[in-house]
Amino acid sequence: MPTPIAFVTRLEREEEQSWLAALARTMPEERIIPFRELSMQERQEAQIAIVANPDPADVAALPGLAFIHSLWAGVERLVLELGETAPPIVRLVDPELSRVMAEAVLAWTYYLQRDMPAYRRSQEARQWLPRAYRHPADMTIGLLGLGELGTAAAHRLLEAGFKVEGWSRTARQMTAIKTHHGEDGLAALLSSSDIVVCLLPLTSQTRGLLNAPRLALMPKGACLINFARGAIVVADDLLAALDTEQLEHAVLDVFETEPLAASSPFYAHPKVTVLPHISAPTTEATAAQIVATNITGWRKDGTLPASIDMRRGY
Ligand code: NAP
Repeated sequence: MPTPIAFVTRLEREEEQSWLAALARTMPEERIIPFRELSMQERQEAQIAIVANPDPADVAALPGLAFIHSLWAGVERLVLELGETAPPIVRLVDPELSRVMAEAVLAWTYYLQRDMPAYRRSQEARQWLPRAYRHPADMTIGLLGLGELGTAAAHRLLEAGFKVEGWSRTARQMTAIKTHHGEDGLAALLSSSDIVVCLLPLTSQTRGLLNAPRLALMPKGACLINFARGAIVVADDLLAALDTEQLEHAVLDVFETEPLAASSPFYAHPKVTVLPHISAPTTEATAAQIVATNITGWRKDGTLPASIDMRRGY
């Protein structure tokens, strides 16, 4: 009988039960047990932990882990809380999640391209104010991050007729997409983008990346979409760039502290759209299937699924 899989989360009970049921459907041969229900012996024996917002102390109480499988794609908090000595961390890489994120990027790009925030303001002021149509082929969308999510978004935007540029840590070649890397590459991308979409992981390198000097590189009237992590953008610098009309609008799905406090100036700002971290929710059924495939593969021949580089931070 295989050793039990520890399920370590700080999710609400209902959500925890729903995940347990989805995981049990995809791995009927496994015993997946919430951390609190594991005996001391089972804690010693567990070789795999499936985690979602786990308490780091619970993970530390499982000394025999070969790897930790996250149910989420973004693992910045895990990396920070577990530290470099943690067992390998496998994050969720799910084509369905990439599709949902690419759909969100296209939807909110259209929102900005078709000037929906400005038409909303016109309506509230009872003004009849047509604006010039901007053809997608005349607009450049700059993607910060060309990983799983950035690449899917890039292709969706290209299909919709936009010009696409992208920035990554290492140099990348992509058909029909102008790619950049390094500090000069970032400056080039920011200065040529009508809309910048952030899909970077939060690391020591990307924290505070979009600050006043970098936002000032964007063309006057450009827009920002942040679907990655709040701390990549310096909030006060973004508000200042919107107030001086350097930037036209920001669509923000992520914030340094979530839920965003009711007192936040973002809520009432006419040039900000606040979303409650919904751009790409995890789809339980597909995610559970991917976790099952990774675990079954490891049980069969010891193949460890691709894991996070803890020093790189993603
Ligand atoms: P990924 O596959 O690891 O890709 C990360 C990309 O960012 C890569 O292209 C990487 O460059 C680039 N990058 C990392 N550090 C960089 C740096 N210092 N300078 C320039 N480029 C850098 O990650 P992913 O799956 O696309 O996910 C990205 C992030 O999206 C997650 O970390 C998470 O924070 C966020 N997310 C948000 C939601 C939501 O609902 N809002 C949902 C899921 C995920 P290389 O290609 O050179 O490695």
